Amino acid sequence: MPPISPHFLELFDVAGTPRGVHISPELWALCHEAVLPALTKALYQLDPSSRPEPEVRPEPVAEWEQLLAYWDFTYPPAYDVHCDCCGAKTADWRADDPRKFRLRNANLGGLVTFQCAGCKALVLKKHFKKHLTVECKPYVDKA
Ligand SMILES: [Zn+2]
Repeated sequence: MPPISPHFLELFDVAGTPRGVHISPELWALCHEAVLPALTKALYQLDPSSRPEPEVRPEPVAEWEQLLAYWDFTYPPAYDVHCDCCGAKTADWRADDPRKFRLRNANLGGLVTFQCAGCKALVLKKHFKKHLTVECKPYVDKA
């Protein structure tokens, strides 16, 4: 690295403490594709709060609608969801904006899974022929 260049300047305060680096737009344009991935990775280490939230998966509404289409349980579908982990509840998960519970999964076997927006717990509604059970599994951070 050239010791002095208008394109790349390491900055120090009067006490000699490093204060940062100045990279000219021209230099940045030439190297950002190569530099940015490493820079971003290091930034997330230094400042985890700068990491974007993971992309929110769309709700598999089509799976839910398929379950409704083949509904052969002895009771009507219900739209209420409650979270035993944090106490959140809704009378109709479809009506909340923003969602209190996001549909995560629905299958023809009758298992419907929601994620609580408040505490990220999973709420499992298991539909059996004549009855329904509800389980709440607290969120486990895999990081
Ligand atoms: Zn919750």
